[in-house]
Amino acid sequence: MRAAVIGAGIGGLCTAVGLQRAGAEVTIYERAAELKPVGSGLSIFANGLTALESLGLGDAFRAITSTQAGRLRGGQRRPDGGWLATIPSNAVTELRIVHRAELHRILLEALEPGTLRLGVEVLEVSPDGAELRTADGSERFDLVVAADGIRSRVRSSWPGDPGIHYSGYSTWRGVTEQPVDLGGEAGETWGHGERFGLAPLADGRIYWFAVATMPAGSTIDDEYAEVVRRFGSWHHPIPELIRGTAPETVFRLDINDLAGPAPTFRRGRCVLLGDAAHAMTPDLGQGGGQAMEDAATLVALLGRISAEPTPSPGDLDTALAEYDRLRRSRTQPIARRARTVGAVAHTRGRLGVTARNALMRLTPASATARQLAAIQSWRPPAAV
Ligand SMILES: Cc1cc2nc3c(=O)[nH]c(=O)nc-3n(C[C@H](O)[C@H](O)[C@H](O)COP(=O)(O)OP(=O)(O)OC[C@H]3O[C@@H](n4cnc5c(N)ncnc54)[C@H](O)[C@@H]3O)c2cc1C
Repeated sequence: MRAAVIGAGIGGLCTAVGLQRAGAEVTIYERAAELKPVGSGLSIFANGLTALESLGLGDAFRAITSTQAGRLRGGQRRPDGGWLATIPSNAVTELRIVHRAELHRILLEALEPGTLRLGVEVLEVSPDGAELRTADGSERFDLVVAADGIRSRVRSSWPGDPGIHYSGYSTWRGVTEQPVDLGGEAGETWGHGERFGLAPLADGRIYWFAVATMPAGSTIDDEYAEVVRRFGSWHHPIPELIRGTAPETVFRLDINDLAGPAPTFRRGRCVLLGDAAHAMTPDLGQGGGQAMEDAATLVALLGRISAEPTPSPGDLDTALAEYDRLRRSRTQPIARRARTVGAVAHTRGRLGVTARNALMRLTPASATARQLAAIQSWRPPAAV
């Protein structure tokens, strides 16, 4: 089978590795001329690891991560450090925090040489989903995987594209320069329309994010100074983590998700995958994990079809229809829930925050554990 993957993000790379290992001939089209080691941390829960395992990437991922984050006391605190809720210790035992640059490195290393075409933007995919057009011309494939991110050009050319929705908040992210002892505690701290989260990378450095409600596209002269101003007096170790991070490495991003569920993840021979299909707010730490599940699902459903030089159109249709069905029903409720969690976390006003905090304290830990288990207990399907 000849497959084209559009986009060399987490979703595209996982898919390309999986399809290649299953016997497909894969080309990745990436519009960036160079893949720079960028980003900060990423939480990958048990479901993400299961997906990576099924793609044959489990060992490589384990080698660059640890389960330390899942062993710390986690949950939500107030800015003065008092706990509002804790996550039961056995609910996230496989949680791993990975540096994005490291994740990209192991995925790129797993590709066969010559898979990646850098600096090539896909301009269009034909309505039958089998032909893509770049500035150099058009080419036909058995399968086209559009893993081209939240602003997917492919999705936006399909009928019913929901478009993008601004969450109302913007996020700074950073990684400390040195390891920091967290004293056995991590998790998030929720204030009034503001939030701070922290978790350890495998090497002991701390990945942190700081989130604040603000209008879309806000400009701030000194991003680092703004983080210090907003969060510098919150509980230990937040001020130390900010001070321990090089100011020039702290960057901010407005948080968007899809305005609504995409009506389909499939058009003919083309499927949407990762953020292109279901961009969600990061409030459950699941965007990347769901992209990994998408990749593992597609590869598992295709099974032996991937290795066939001329796959039967009927077999391909069946696999892609099942991919569409399974992945919409899995990802769209998670995206809805992530948006709700974000809205609750960003409650503002004294009364609202008091009510939210009371609700947090009253929510039984077993309910949180059940929700986490439902997300994490995922398994790839059998081949169609
Ligand atoms: C602040 C923040 C925190 C997050 N935290 C977590 C977390 O803790 N855990 C987690 O699992 N997820 C998290 N996520 C979500 C996660 O980062 C994304 O879900 C994931 O990176 C999406 O990967 P992707 O491959 O689908 O898309 P992308 O990473 O966006 O990749 C798309 C690629 O396609 C390329 N491209 C686009 N258009 C074209 C074109 N026309 N032709 C060729 N190439 C093209 C782009 O250049 C890009 O390289 C977070 C997201 C944010 C914003």
